[in-house]
Amino acid sequence: MTSDAILCADDIGRITFWNAAAEAMFGRSAADTIGAELSIIVPPALRAAHRAGFASAAQGGYMKLAGKSVELTAIKADGSEFPIELSLGRWQDEKGFHAFAAIIRDVSARKLLQYEREQAWAFLNTVIEHLPAMLFVKEADTQRYLLMNKAGAAIAERPQSDFLGRTDSELFPGRGEGYEARDRAACATPGVHVYESEHLRADGQLVHLRTQRLRIDTPQGDARYLLGMTEDVTEARRAQAEVARLGAYDALTSLRNRASYVRRLDMLAAAAAPFALLSIDLDRFKAVNDQFGHLVGDEVLIQVAQRLSELTAPGDLIARVGGDEFVMVLTGDEAAEQSHGIADAIVTALEEPIKTERVRTHVGASVGVALYPSDGSTPEAVRQASDLALYRAKDHGRGTACFYNEAMDAAARNRQFLEIALRDAIRNDEMTLAFQPVILIETGVITSFEALARWTHADRGAIAPCDFIQAAERCGLIEELGTNLLRKACVEAARWPGDVQIAVNLSPLQFQSGHLCERVRQILEETGLAAQRLQLEVTESLLMRDVDQTFEQLSQLRLLGIQILMGDFGVGYSSLGYFERFPFDKVKIDRSFINAAPTSRASQAIIKAVVQLGTSLNMGVVAEGVETNEQMEMLTALGCSHVQGYLLGKPMQGSDVLYHLHRNSSNC
Ligand code: C2E
Repeated sequence: MTSDAILCADDIGRITFWNAAAEAMFGRSAADTIGAELSIIVPPALRAAHRAGFASAAQGGYMKLAGKSVELTAIKADGSEFPIELSLGRWQDEKGFHAFAAIIRDVSARKLLQYEREQAWAFLNTVIEHLPAMLFVKEADTQRYLLMNKAGAAIAERPQSDFLGRTDSELFPGRGEGYEARDRAACATPGVHVYESEHLRADGQLVHLRTQRLRIDTPQGDARYLLGMTEDVTEARRAQAEVARLGAYDALTSLRNRASYVRRLDMLAAAAAPFALLSIDLDRFKAVNDQFGHLVGDEVLIQVAQRLSELTAPGDLIARVGGDEFVMVLTGDEAAEQSHGIADAIVTALEEPIKTERVRTHVGASVGVALYPSDGSTPEAVRQASDLALYRAKDHGRGTACFYNEAMDAAARNRQFLEIALRDAIRNDEMTLAFQPVILIETGVITSFEALARWTHADRGAIAPCDFIQAAERCGLIEELGTNLLRKACVEAARWPGDVQIAVNLSPLQFQSGHLCERVRQILEETGLAAQRLQLEVTESLLMRDVDQTFEQLSQLRLLGIQILMGDFGVGYSSLGYFERFPFDKVKIDRSFINAAPTSRASQAIIKAVVQLGTSLNMGVVAEGVETNEQMEMLTALGCSHVQGYLLGKPMQGSDVLYHLHRNSSNC
């Protein structure tokens, strides 16, 4: 059965035939429809025109719709309108009346499809036009443009209408040939062809473009179209370059970073290019940072970086490789020779005070220098050599430059030996204490003993306390060693009569954990020594670290009843401000001033000033290292309250202390 509706009408427009498909299409049965007016299938708005046209056709007049298919709108019984395709025929019956036959097809589905297709095309068109990238299509064989979207025209700086049907060599003489060559290359190879280039725009701006080309084939496999997409990747490339830059530079100082410097050394060594490596360490940066805060610290580092930059020539490298550690790499045949002058210039430049917005500081620097290839055949070996030289420079009182030599290797090996042996010695409890008396000048009575650590190595004999204490500080053993010595000192002192005190030295590093106070309290409890009989001796260098936290711990110790002594006063970075902030019980004037006192008026003046300070702050003043009667008389005259030194008693074993105390009391 046909799905097209077939109907016939007589000359006055009455329906005479109505097939089953018409019943289904219009929702009207043949029984209801036959005899009805044909206009029932015409929407009311069109009926008048329909009637007029029909009447004219019935008279044999011109039939607009005859013999061809036309699209019209029809109406169903339920009043819904729908599109139809109509083919109409007319004939004359034997009586000479005109009759009509029509074949009607419901084209709703087709119309819908067409509508959807138009919508899809419009959508695609909108997408293509709004794509924020150039999209173009060319015919593969002629290379003529079939499509160029809006963004593409903007990137190419030509009106969109210029492109259709034209080739690149016509549009862009001089450079279009290059585009076409790349099109051909893309057509010759399967997959996506990518090309990046820089393009100078008419406004003078340089843009970075990335074009992807893809060939589209016919079903037979021949290239039919060339699809291309070009993006402006200027920003992305700039961001990538910035990321790469940040990866190689230190964000604070804008100098190179460690990774970048290591790479440079590797490259130089790979090219067998000689270089001088200068390792630079700021001498007092930690103190500046602790005292004035990180903002000032940052400003100082920036200014240091600027000063270092002023000393280098093009091709040299400066990097910040740690908090306050810098390196400079000098290259070229003259590098070794130049490094002497530059190392000194660094020390001089950083000796100058640094003025930040808030403060004026003196940081100073030490420099270690090593040369490639003479001091090390690999970058790693040269780095170690310059570190050893730096270590030596710092050991030599800072503010100096040292050049690597082989003896430094021996010193490094010695340090390593010491650290290993020290670990064993602590574990085997080989450390002992010697006790040196401190005498109150006024009465001549021993008021305290200073506990001094001693270590005798089986092969190397007695090792100087300064050496092994430093080694313990370096290798993280100082807390364990310090606690051990403190306990030993308290055990010993608890045996002494009366109120004789014991003074124990503390390393600044023992303050770092924050547990010192609790540990001391425990030891006093364990050993039964009264807190009032314990003196803890700290040095000025202690206060170069976290000052507030250190004063807080000292206050807690003092609250326990312990006395706090400031030792070695005058050799470090003394600040009278410390005495203002904390009530030290005694201050010990360094041995160097006592030594020089008989001949140096400056030393005498310093001793006098400390004595005055002690008097006004109610603080005892101890003169250390008294060796001669002349010194003794002078110190007495200058007003020191206590003395300590070989003249009055050398450091002695614990077993001798009681005897010494006994003799001292009978002499007085
Ligand atoms: P210090 O605290 O200044 O100790 C005084 C040093 O001067 C001792 O050296 C002592 O033997 C020495 N001395 C005392 N009187 C005289 C004298 O009249 N002439 C001369 N030339 N020297 C004299 P020592 O025992 O070699 O200790 C050196 C440094 O090692 C100490 O200096 C102290 O800083 C450190 N130290 C010693 N024992 C300990 C300890 O148990 N813990 C810590 N953290 N450091 C310690």
